[in-house]
Amino acid sequence: MDDARLRADTPGLGSGPDPTDPASGHVFLDSAGSSLPPGVVTETVIAHLRREAEVGGYRAANERIDELDGVRGSIAELLGTVPGAIALSDSATRAWTDFFYSVPLGPGDRVLICGIDYAANAIATLQRARAAGASVERIPSDESGLLDLAALARMLDERVKLVSLVYVPTNGGVVNPVAEAARLARASGALVLLDACQAAGQLPLDVTELDVDAVSATGRKWLRGPRGTGFLYLRPELAATMEPQRLDLHSATWTGPESYELAPDARRFEFWEHDVAARLGLGAAVRYLLDLGPEAVYAAVADRSSHLRAALGALAGVTVRDLGGAAGARGGIVSFTKDGIAPEAIRDRLAERNITVTVSRASSTLLDMTERGLAAVVRASPHCFVSYAELDRFVAAVAAL
Ligand SMILES: *Cc1c(COP(=O)(O)O)cnc(C)c1O
Repeated sequence: MDDARLRADTPGLGSGPDPTDPASGHVFLDSAGSSLPPGVVTETVIAHLRREAEVGGYRAANERIDELDGVRGSIAELLGTVPGAIALSDSATRAWTDFFYSVPLGPGDRVLICGIDYAANAIATLQRARAAGASVERIPSDESGLLDLAALARMLDERVKLVSLVYVPTNGGVVNPVAEAARLARASGALVLLDACQAAGQLPLDVTELDVDAVSATGRKWLRGPRGTGFLYLRPELAATMEPQRLDLHSATWTGPESYELAPDARRFEFWEHDVAARLGLGAAVRYLLDLGPEAVYAAVADRSSHLRAALGALAGVTVRDLGGAAGARGGIVSFTKDGIAPEAIRDRLAERNITVTVSRASSTLLDMTERGLAAVVRASPHCFVSYAELDRFVAAVAAL
């Protein structure tokens, strides 16, 4: 990868007190929250908004119809599937809940979630379980914090209707063994819904290889797309047969006074109205990633995060909080705490030095954080455009706090 081009393509890196001074530039370590988009993404969005203001949204969208049609194709290419398996959405949670609320659940049914499940997913499972008389049960983790496959195998029976798997959590670098877990769950007849929000754009995500039933992801994190974008992947057989819980005149066609027909593919999970500019921006972000070469990007993220993890781990008083340990691979999120200073204070004091990190709180991943007695951790998530000099500047700043 051409690092100089990558950085030149990322205008947000230049924002700082003195853009020509490497010691004052913007060290951006929040691609797990909302990344810096490549310039082409921002320009695509703005150009379309301008065009809407000139000719109205309908004509503006018609002028870009081929590009809009191509967005699902670009995402499909990234995931190793067909465009008909992709429904575009406005967030990962929208995509996740669109699928989840469409899975029939009755009294006595069981839903399994992981210890690192995301709050929005967990809340939805609790709401539906309450209404349906079903139960939500947590799959245990092993001693290193990875999803415990043997425990999952013991929990599975014919009453388990859905298994919710998280590939990478919001609060750390653990990478769950989701392919193996999906194989077990599917063999027992359960549907598998994979939250790949922190995986898409960060590590390889081949849905055919993973063999899951559905995948949700967002645009604004590692994919570097605009906010308010996301997508749902559905196994093609499901995309052609599953009835979404809510329909409109895009997901279905009104064919007679008593009849309607569902869209033939995953588009049945989309609504007609959407932010066209944001969707074009998402397409530009995914094409940018495909052009760079996803494998090279994944390798660059893995390299930067292991460098960072090692450097932070060597600092006195700093504890790296990532689960997974020696047993599993670790991804691009590095979570840590420092003795005697609250995560929020670390974030704020680093911001004064033009270094962006975020704080991940217990309320986002309640089961895991409660179990580990953590109220919050600092989250540093370097994308491929971050330089090693910037990582070292960040580590020195943490040491100096
Ligand atoms: C951010 C995140 C989500 C939610 O994504 P939205 O686009 O905000 O809905 C879901 N799961 C994980 C693991 C996340 O990190």
